[in-house]
Amino acid sequence: MMQISLFNTLTRTIEPFTPRDRSAVLMYTCGPTVYRSVHIGNLRTYLMADWLRRALARAGHTVRQVVNITDVGHMRQEQLDQGEDKVVAAALAAGQTAGEIAAFYTDTFHQDLARLGITPAAVYPRASDHVPEMITIIKHLIARGHAYLADENVYFDVASFADYGALSGNVHGEGLEEGVRVTADPHKRDPRDFALWKAAEPGRTLQWPSPWGPGFPGWHIECSAMARKHLGEALDLHTGGVDNIFPHHEDERAQSEAASGGRFVRHWVHGQHLLVDGLKMAKSTGNAYTLDDLVSRGYDPVAFRYLCMSAHYRHRMNFTFAALRAAQQGLAHLRERVRLTPARAEPAWSEPWLTAFDAALADDLNVPAALGVVWKMLHAPGNEQAKVAALLDVDAVLGLGLGDVRPCEPPPAITELLQQRDTLRSRGDYDPSDRLRGRIEGEGYRLLDTREGPRLAPRDQPLPASDVTRSQDVPSLLDQPDTVAATIGLVVGNALDDLRRCVERVLRWCAGESMELFVVDNGSTDGSRQWLDERAAVEPRLRVLHTDHDLGEGAGRNAVLKQARGAMVVLVDTSIELSGNPLPALRQTLAESDVGLAGAYGLTTENIQCFEETDGREVDALEGYLLAIRRSVVRDVGLMDEKYRFYRNLDIDYSFQVRERGFRLVRAPDLPLIMHPHRIWNSMSEEQRDALSKKNFNRFLHRWRERTDLIRTPAPPAGRHH
Ligand code: AMP
Ligand code: ZN
Repeated sequence: MMQISLFNTLTRTIEPFTPRDRSAVLMYTCGPTVYRSVHIGNLRTYLMADWLRRALARAGHTVRQVVNITDVGHMRQEQLDQGEDKVVAAALAAGQTAGEIAAFYTDTFHQDLARLGITPAAVYPRASDHVPEMITIIKHLIARGHAYLADENVYFDVASFADYGALSGNVHGEGLEEGVRVTADPHKRDPRDFALWKAAEPGRTLQWPSPWGPGFPGWHIECSAMARKHLGEALDLHTGGVDNIFPHHEDERAQSEAASGGRFVRHWVHGQHLLVDGLKMAKSTGNAYTLDDLVSRGYDPVAFRYLCMSAHYRHRMNFTFAALRAAQQGLAHLRERVRLTPARAEPAWSEPWLTAFDAALADDLNVPAALGVVWKMLHAPGNEQAKVAALLDVDAVLGLGLGDVRPCEPPPAITELLQQRDTLRSRGDYDPSDRLRGRIEGEGYRLLDTREGPRLAPRDQPLPASDVTRSQDVPSLLDQPDTVAATIGLVVGNALDDLRRCVERVLRWCAGESMELFVVDNGSTDGSRQWLDERAAVEPRLRVLHTDHDLGEGAGRNAVLKQARGAMVVLVDTSIELSGNPLPALRQTLAESDVGLAGAYGLTTENIQCFEETDGREVDALEGYLLAIRRSVVRDVGLMDEKYRFYRNLDIDYSFQVRERGFRLVRAPDLPLIMHPHRIWNSMSEEQRDALSKKNFNRFLHRWRERTDLIRTPAPPAGRHH
């Protein structure tokens, strides 16, 4: 039996893995919270668990895996009550019950796993079905002196568990989040203590009866209870993402070991995080992609699985669409290999390759190295059929579903050509037979002659359109001469109605102008792409650039500034509807050579900390709803700061950049426009708005705080104020 070694978070070393009981490996995987869709980062962690299972199976183990479904809300219910999750809030408002929402997201979770080829677990227990089991453990912990009751809440007494902190290294609770300390519960004896049970506040939907009154369980106790019920008191493996180490797994371990008196888990395995474009994933950043987001951009879910094989599970992995594209190509190549060649095992040839493959897996589940062995084998000299047999063999671990790839069934017309070609070849008429090959290939097939006869494969599946995937990929035309008087630029996401309204008004009201309308489709998936392409096909003034995902507001606006060919560039937000032609007034405002930016809405400030709307003509900053700038000024001032992925403060930041070069900012009054509700702003919860606004505001302050010289009416020196 192959001996697998794995890094153990508890001991911080790579250790040989041996199950307690040889008959089955008991494995617990922290599962999803089902009040939202899982994102591709979560899926990376489930893929890691899947490769681990498959590698163990290849090593001869039987694995019993339990993946819990968190549907009781626990701590996260509180965030939800604060309106964190718009989807849930909307569903609740629409009369759906918490149970219905949970059932919906549980379903989509299972669909995601299936699309990625993840082997189903033995059980998917739901936390809400295990509240009595949680209560049993809590009672037991109180009886053993590891937990105490304080005002209808039950807390785990961390000081009573000597080994607390061994898993995460957080012996003194330094890792406690700021927020946890700020809202420190006065009932706790020690700030490290954590809730096992909490009394239900009035009006709470999810609550259960308990010996301590109606309430709900703490977050960690659910995993202790479900692990114990479905696997017993001693597990071989426990997996999750690195963010689970503290506090979740530290606390889970403390509870379980304090309750049982024995060792809870032999081997803790944690997967590193997935980043997107080098950034932490967050719904509010717009980069917390779901599998559906990839599928709606034309990618095969299995391509994401393939992509995750390129990084070791203990390393961070940076997701980009360019990498996903390459992964899809790699996958298509493997599928084609299988499609074109029947497998025929040649153990003598493949054995060294399989040994190398297994050695990579045995070395702390090194899937990227194992995949490397596969490619090396495919490129090595040797019989193609033996290679395909070995490929199918190792795919039991890779899980790409290559065994399901079938030779292609050509339509009758092609079959007939194949038969004719066969006849010609058997007669030795090679020239005409080669012409037939050409015809077959011309129909979109690849043809390979094997000992078993000819095999067909359709040409590689078309990849999703190759759009701009990084801001750097947008060429700059800034140094080229103007071709029109004005470029009106829009950056659009998923808001087809706003987009249509905005585009049609611009085209109508600027009909007599020398202008172009340049639209950056910043990764839309709602049909905006198709609408724009169709519109541009019949409208010569409309130019469109597609990006394959949302590059952020700063990068989107820079794409306009780089690609514009007008002497003047007017950046318009899609919430703006033109009710007349604004270009003459803007042109006139920008006619004074020291005016750098003109706009519709202006702001003033006395201290750079606080901005107010103004009706005045000269302003300190212009709002991004409508901004006009000469291209010659862009050349001088430079582009916008692309760290602003979210639009707020980007406009003020750029305003200051323009001021810094000595230009004035002027409001063009009475521009013919109507302002509609801002769709990004309106799509967000209060908290998201606050978080993002704060982030951008801090970024802005960091850069400009000291530059009171740039504002027109600085406040009197401190001290004389008030
Ligand atoms: P949650 O639903 O937040 O409990 O997360 C489910 C699983 O995904 C947990 O094991 C997390 O540790 C893991 N996870 C969360 N964020 C990421 C990420 N960005 N990359 C990889 N795994 C993650
Ligand atoms: Zn858990």
